[in-house]
Amino acid sequence: MAAPRVLVHVCCGPCAAYTIPALREEGFQVTALYFNPNIHPVEEYVRRRDAFLDHAEDLGADKVIVKDADYDPQAWFREITFRETNRCFHCARIRLEKTSFIAKRGQFDHFTTTLLYSKHQKHDEIAALGRDLGPESAAKARFLYRDFREGWQQGIHRSKDLGMYRQDYCGCLYSDLERRKKLLAK
Ligand code: SF4
Repeated sequence: MAAPRVLVHVCCGPCAAYTIPALREEGFQVTALYFNPNIHPVEEYVRRRDAFLDHAEDLGADKVIVKDADYDPQAWFREITFRETNRCFHCARIRLEKTSFIAKRGQFDHFTTTLLYSKHQKHDEIAALGRDLGPESAAKARFLYRDFREGWQQGIHRSKDLGMYRQDYCGCLYSDLERRKKLLAK
């Protein structure tokens, strides 16, 4: 029987470092999707993209889809504006909607996201979003829930061993400003 196909939304290389090998170990055929219009500025988007692409094969990705043409920060800001206090929910929604759309179109068995690896994300909210977009009852493109946080340390070690770029802010302009608050206060 052919291995089940899963489309994994990848937010960055370090979060994929545990997630993709874990899915391969479970027997999935893994296609990675890099779609992150939240990342600001574009140089950082490219740096994170390339950090992942340089190691995607080593991690076990069978195939990679990169949506550079859909990197549209203006559209992302339009979705977030006036929803800033709940911006992480909408940020995850935008990326999961795209992932679920591509999974349906590509007849994948499942889709999931490396956002479920991060201890800094709202894990339960992301899981609920995924379940809404890809219900268990669907014939294809069902959401694959895993608590990838259990591999937190393993992922950190692996990304460091690979010499992968490890960013120090979540990605958007707001998170960049938050880490620089001290600098601005001086
Ligand atoms: S902090 Fe991270 S998850 Fe939240 S909106 Fe910014 S990039 Fe998205």
